[in-house]
Amino acid sequence: ATNINALADEYLRLSYHGLRAKDKSFNAKLETDFDKSLGSVNIVAQDIGRVILNLITNAFYVVKKKKEQQKEGYEPTVSVYTKKKKDTITISVKDNGNGIPLAIKEKIFQPFFTTKPSGEGTGLGLSLSYDIVKAHGGELKVETHEGMGTEFTIILPNTEITK
Ligand code: ADP
Ligand code: MG
Repeated sequence: ATNINALADEYLRLSYHGLRAKDKSFNAKLETDFDKSLGSVNIVAQDIGRVILNLITNAFYVVKKKKEQQKEGYEPTVSVYTKKKKDTITISVKDNGNGIPLAIKEKIFQPFFTTKPSGEGTGLGLSLSYDIVKAHGGELKVETHEGMGTEFTIILPNTEITK
């Protein structure tokens, strides 16, 4: 069983510290809003953790790139939310990067699709994430606004086992 809130919080902080270890000048705002009623859930931590980490890694990548291009008045922000509903658990990862152009949005879940320079991305993160979420009976959704940012949401069946 997995505590999704703890897992997501840990990946967010570890990713940020990993980036800061390589580049001390990089600062980002981390926002979290964890649904406290979300307890331990009956999913494989390794699987869903990998999805959360992929989304967080992509989010930091775009906000860091945007910061490098536009220094004034831009505060890189990565947000992670969880929410428990009657039948579903959702985990959202949001960034205030540049969003995904429509022509690219159609392709992001395809294996090996990447817009990153060679060596920086394999294009496998989202396709793998999509497959993992599907295998757990869930959905992986994306909402994006050009110039404003992107929010990925993992929707899983509510398989909560403890409060
Ligand atoms: P990779 O990170 O190796 O490029 P992914 O499958 O994780 O592969 O992502 C595929 C592509 O989707 C990225 O190259 C990028 O173009 C786009 N993408 C993914 N996440 C975001 C995001 N948060 N904001 C903007 N574009 C994104
Ligand atoms: Mg990726």
